[in-house]
Amino acid sequence: MSERCVTVQEAQNDIRMIVSKSRETEEATLLEAGGRILSENLRAGKSSPPFPRSPYDGYALRAADIQGANKKQPVCLKVVEKLCAGKYPKQVIGSGEAARIMTGAPIPNGADTVVKQEDTDYGEGIVQIYRSQNPYDHYCPQGEDFLAGEKLLTKGLRMDAIRIGIAASAGCDRIRVVKKVRVAVLTTGSELAKPGTKLRPGQIYDSSLYLISERIRELGGEVVRMNSVLDEPEILKGRLREAARCADLIVTTGGVSVGEKDLTRQVLSQMGADKVFDRVFVKPGSPTALFRLEETPVFALSGNPFAATVHMELLVRAAIARWYGCDELFPHEKRGFLLSNFGKSAVSDRYIRGTESGGRILLPNGKERSGILSSMNGCNCLVKIEQGRANLREGERVCYIKI
Ligand code: AMP
Ligand code: MG
Repeated sequence: MSERCVTVQEAQNDIRMIVSKSRETEEATLLEAGGRILSENLRAGKSSPPFPRSPYDGYALRAADIQGANKKQPVCLKVVEKLCAGKYPKQVIGSGEAARIMTGAPIPNGADTVVKQEDTDYGEGIVQIYRSQNPYDHYCPQGEDFLAGEKLLTKGLRMDAIRIGIAASAGCDRIRVVKKVRVAVLTTGSELAKPGTKLRPGQIYDSSLYLISERIRELGGEVVRMNSVLDEPEILKGRLREAARCADLIVTTGGVSVGEKDLTRQVLSQMGADKVFDRVFVKPGSPTALFRLEETPVFALSGNPFAATVHMELLVRAAIARWYGCDELFPHEKRGFLLSNFGKSAVSDRYIRGTESGGRILLPNGKERSGILSSMNGCNCLVKIEQGRANLREGERVCYIKI
């Protein structure tokens, strides 16, 4: 069968075609909602605040009563009620009257402004006001934050601390979210050892298993299988079969290049998986492939931890974004400029690690090979060096994706 080599954009289009948006939803309490994707719009049941409230400790009164007041010629008002936060006013404020009021307490009817206590003599029965104010100065109207019926959060948004706070301020204790995407992660390689065990000669620790699994959790997925598999076709077949039974997506690493023990493609084809593409025209990790095993998408990434990371961000993340209908998760390209030089050129687009702040991108010194992970520490973006560009200098414009 002929090889299908695609660009990143083509790969992402294929992903859009084969990954369907999940319709399965469930309820989550606000305490469980962090990182979950809203499956329906959230509207305010009530206005917030539900009543006009005082932004200061002071006196609620009628602005018309204190026109022209100052320290030398104060206006005296009768204090008819004391209102702390949590109390509801009993009195209507008439002309010549005021209510002692604390921050957060409802402003009584009749009053249209609050004078800060620092601008008074703190009087209890009678208060002297030292300042003139206009109506609705120092006044938080009902619905200042949002009005009853207003749409506060749109479906497809990912819940973070602020959005959880917004839901709480609207009085919701539960929200409807998309069920978590279940992902199986299989790393392949007979050289891989479990961290915490003693390395035998020729072995290395399996970093990609932990890296990929944690990233899937960060992106809101549930890791339902985490297996490190020897380069043995029958074992790999068994693991893939189990994974297809319990997962919505499968991510494998290793075994996709052209070595004798590079078995992943071969095994998937023998299992009857449909090939979507064989290679992505990008560095690193160009041997990355996508299959469908009994309808379950299988992302076969390269084993090198950095190469695996690049395709995790470009492709697996695109699949998770599609599954959730969450555009915020999609690896959108942004524009920035380099604060460092970059010497390598490439026959295809190349992604390198970087640290971005305000669109300015610093590259770590040296250590750019795809088997190197340590220099990725602190990096927060992947910078695209476009095909044909060479010897990039500080100040040059580039595209990047945030990670
Ligand atoms: P492969 O993609 O299987 O050809 O592996 C490419 C390189 O990445 C080899 O040097 C592997 O030893 C290394 N490698 C493969 N899988 C992992 C892994 N899970 N963790 C760390 N390194 C790996
Ligand atoms: Mg291998």
